[in-house]
Amino acid sequence: MTRSTPDSCPGVLRLHQAADGPLARIRVPGGRLAPEQLQALADAARDLGNGALELTSRGNVQLRQVRDAAALADRLGAAGLLPSRTHERVRNIVASPLSGRVGGWADVHGLAADLDAGLRADPRLADLPGRVLFTVDDGRGDVSTLRGDIGIQAVAADEFAVLLAGADTGLRVSAREAVEVMLDAARGFLDLRGTGDDGQWRLHEIPGGAERVVEALDRSPAGAPLELGAAHDLPIGWLDQDNGLVSLGAGVPLGTLPARTAEFLAAVERPVFVTPWRSLVITDLDEGPAETVVRVLAPMGLIFDAQSPWLQVSACAGRPGCAKSRTDVRADLAAAVESDRVRSGTPEPARIVVPAEDVTVAGRQHWSGCERRCGRPTGPVTDVVATPDGYRVDTH
Ligand code: SF4
Repeated sequence: MTRSTPDSCPGVLRLHQAADGPLARIRVPGGRLAPEQLQALADAARDLGNGALELTSRGNVQLRQVRDAAALADRLGAAGLLPSRTHERVRNIVASPLSGRVGGWADVHGLAADLDAGLRADPRLADLPGRVLFTVDDGRGDVSTLRGDIGIQAVAADEFAVLLAGADTGLRVSAREAVEVMLDAARGFLDLRGTGDDGQWRLHEIPGGAERVVEALDRSPAGAPLELGAAHDLPIGWLDQDNGLVSLGAGVPLGTLPARTAEFLAAVERPVFVTPWRSLVITDLDEGPAETVVRVLAPMGLIFDAQSPWLQVSACAGRPGCAKSRTDVRADLAAAVESDRVRSGTPEPARIVVPAEDVTVAGRQHWSGCERRCGRPTGPVTDVVATPDGYRVDTH
């Protein structure tokens, strides 16, 4: 598959003209935000945007209705959130959020940071399409389920499976080798893709792409292929760290974090991780402060209950952010949650069209304003898609 339109992924220096105004996407490699960075994002959202941070399905952050792009770039640069003007849109790196704190074979956050530095150090890698996704999984298999283009997953304390196009290649590398192998794989993808904006955006779009990159890496497979994609628990609620401290996993309804809530989180003065499941992990807390965080932030809308229906649902931007949307999807979905029409359990097989106020669905579900279904999570998900006659509920 080749593209006839250029890669239009937004960044900070190239805003997307959404229906409700300019939209900026800020890459957060590995999802890690220092407190002062979270504060800078909260300030920018309030002063220059619509007053909220949007969390994306790749663990990045978006600001909507940006009023002053130059001021935004200056502020984010000062906060260390725009360390490269040439490579900003290729820094799509997700890492296991709990790595190094709760379980997992290895602490991979350092590898994610080294990968980011390696990407930025190679001028040619600025040509990677903004859609290419790197995954760095500490062995629990959480971010590998995102089926990135290039990734690693720990299989022992110092052994990593190399993943390409969402599957295990059988190649095994040490921690010392892992970053350079991922960078070489990215270069191999560029070689296959050719130059210009009309090439493939993702490795899986190239016939035999993963196999050809493996050939270029010139290494012999050494492991039985891993089965990827098993279900994993979302990191929500109280999570005891291996070192005696506490992490708190917090769901963010529809991924929209008000600037005021972000300010409270920044004031906790601990690293916060943005997850690719539109949630946050607040780390390195003593028990007393952790209890205070829950007491203060739960009433502000953050979700610490793993059974919350908000954790079953996601939605595209819908109106007013997207001109293609048939309706305000998020408002309809919020009404469904608040009126107990998002149920637990397994959905009945169905393909029906019903008015918004009658949509009642069990289990994981993604609501969309049109057939493109932007932001749909991977895995078994019921589609709820706006049509001219109501919402089509489609259980696969
Ligand atoms: S799914 Fe359709 S309506 Fe929703 S954001 Fe994408 S293009 Fe817009």
